[in-house]
Amino acid sequence: MATNRTFTMLKPDAIENGYTGKILDMIIAAGFEIKAMKLTRLTTEQAQEFYAVHSERPFYGELVEYMTSGPIIAAILEKENAVADFRTLIGATDPAEAAEGTIRKYYAESKGRNACHGSDSDENAEIEGKFHFSANEIM
Ligand code: UDP
Ligand code: MG
Repeated sequence: MATNRTFTMLKPDAIENGYTGKILDMIIAAGFEIKAMKLTRLTTEQAQEFYAVHSERPFYGELVEYMTSGPIIAAILEKENAVADFRTLIGATDPAEAAEGTIRKYYAESKGRNACHGSDSDENAEIEGKFHFSANEIM
């Protein structure tokens, strides 16, 4: 079932590089409405759990270290076709392969430090949103 919601994190590199406002502008200009948002920092346990699906991959340790290296901004976004449209807006995982006009093309440093997370399915959008926000924090 389509929820019309997705979940995003502006990752530590994006915050550190001062791109928070620019990325949020792109998200809002693309028609997404913010339903929940917070500046926070992941614990090692949280980052491990969030990326558990990648735990057997060679980059997992580095990914957890990077995602806990500084603050992130977590947000729930709403728009028709939110999951697919947001993946289009952020672009490919590796900025070298990201299309022109995408968030990762403009603001990602590398395949690992790639500025922005976007859920890959309606089911994961719901799981990831609930991982970061309690019911009363979601509009
Ligand atoms: N990642 C990495 N090296 C890789 C693939 C992924 O460091 O070869 C990191 C990167 O930060 C990516 C995250 O792991 O965003 C999750 O990987 P996934 O394949 O789910 O990419 P995404 O869905 O974020 O585009
Ligand atoms: Mg993914």
